[in-house]
Amino acid sequence: MNDLKQRALQYDVRDELAGFREAFHFPKTDAEHCIYFTGNSLGLQPKRTADILREELDDWAEFGVEGHFSARRPWVSYHENLMDKAAQLVGAKTDEVVHMNGLTTNIHLLLVSFYRPDAKRNKIICEAKAFPSDLYALDSQIRFHGLDPASTLIEVSPREGEEVLREEDIEDVIRQHGEEVALVFFGGVNYYSGQVLDMERIARAAHRAGAVVGFDLAHAAGNVPMRLHDWEVDFAAWCTYKYLNSGPGSVGGIFVHEKHARNFDLPRFTGWWGSDKESRFLMKRTFVPLPGAEGWQLSNAPVFSMAPHLASLEIFSEAGMDRLRKKSVALTGFADEVIRAAGGDRVKIITPTEAERRGCQLSLVVPRVGRKVFEYLQTHGAFTDWREPDVIRIAPVPLYNSFADVYRFGELLRSALDSTLE
Ligand SMILES: *Cc1c(COP(=O)(O)O)cnc(C)c1O
Repeated sequence: MNDLKQRALQYDVRDELAGFREAFHFPKTDAEHCIYFTGNSLGLQPKRTADILREELDDWAEFGVEGHFSARRPWVSYHENLMDKAAQLVGAKTDEVVHMNGLTTNIHLLLVSFYRPDAKRNKIICEAKAFPSDLYALDSQIRFHGLDPASTLIEVSPREGEEVLREEDIEDVIRQHGEEVALVFFGGVNYYSGQVLDMERIARAAHRAGAVVGFDLAHAAGNVPMRLHDWEVDFAAWCTYKYLNSGPGSVGGIFVHEKHARNFDLPRFTGWWGSDKESRFLMKRTFVPLPGAEGWQLSNAPVFSMAPHLASLEIFSEAGMDRLRKKSVALTGFADEVIRAAGGDRVKIITPTEAERRGCQLSLVVPRVGRKVFEYLQTHGAFTDWREPDVIRIAPVPLYNSFADVYRFGELLRSALDSTLE
């Protein structure tokens, strides 16, 4: 038995989180083993999700409209079931977090409140390789204020010949634009490179310039530990279907820092669910904003996407983000080693090497034959994904991936590379 295989087996035996693998459904494939490395795109379904959904369906059948108050988890306050555990996950106070809508919708709603350009201070600083939806949202918000994205949106790029951003460069750009900066908005973890940004450092730089700071945490939530409250991040938004395993298109999460909780002068788009709970059903003409993140809600809770999220948050709470992160660092580190052993100089990993600058994801560039390698992996039971122009993303996640998965992936990658030589 070779050394890597031996080590994978030992790590799995010693892994105190190994049991969680059994709590998930793995897709059926023709291959002998399914290697699911796309938890950064759509996390696997926990087995308990069906049970909790069943309970909501049963309550709906039994109670009809009365389920709003009589269901085992009354629907009228359903979102409250999620707040504690989600807050822990992102390092927030309970009132700073709420779930509603989808991610891009939430980015828009938060920008309505937190992007307040005026004649002098109107620029937004973001990353050049932000997720397209985020860039569309930023562009359209800028135009909505009658401004031109070409001169208003400042995109920070990696240096020539480098693949990832340097925080010092972000700080420099913020400093250069100084009093013109209204908002600094980045992905906490970049979807393409897998780079984890030093969010605390960026938040500090933004505030030093007198700007507001927000993060898209789509690739960070459930992946890396965060302390949004302590870092004084103004606002953040994330989706729950990637690392958070809550199902396709499931409900989004938002964070609004406590310092804005009672700032009712902030402009916001409003709906009845953001209004005072006591008077909500009195159908009063006046909107009375709830303090905290709840005040940004518009509609009543989407119970059938919150239920899976509740199941998922319970699992995260049982596993614990600290233990998950510890395993993740080991698992990603092992993946890095296995890929280097299998790929040699034919595969380049563009994700940073330092543990604190990456999470679960590794982004691989295989010059010329990347697409072929990706297809080979796909037809042999490995779920990875292809992102234009030339990256294969893999994400071994600590909840349900094993070190044996990583070892097998290395073997498969070796065969995939060999197959392109024939
Ligand atoms: C996945 C992802 C999205 C997707 O947005 P939806 O509104 O949930 O479709 C947006 N931004 C980033 C950074 C993402 O990773």
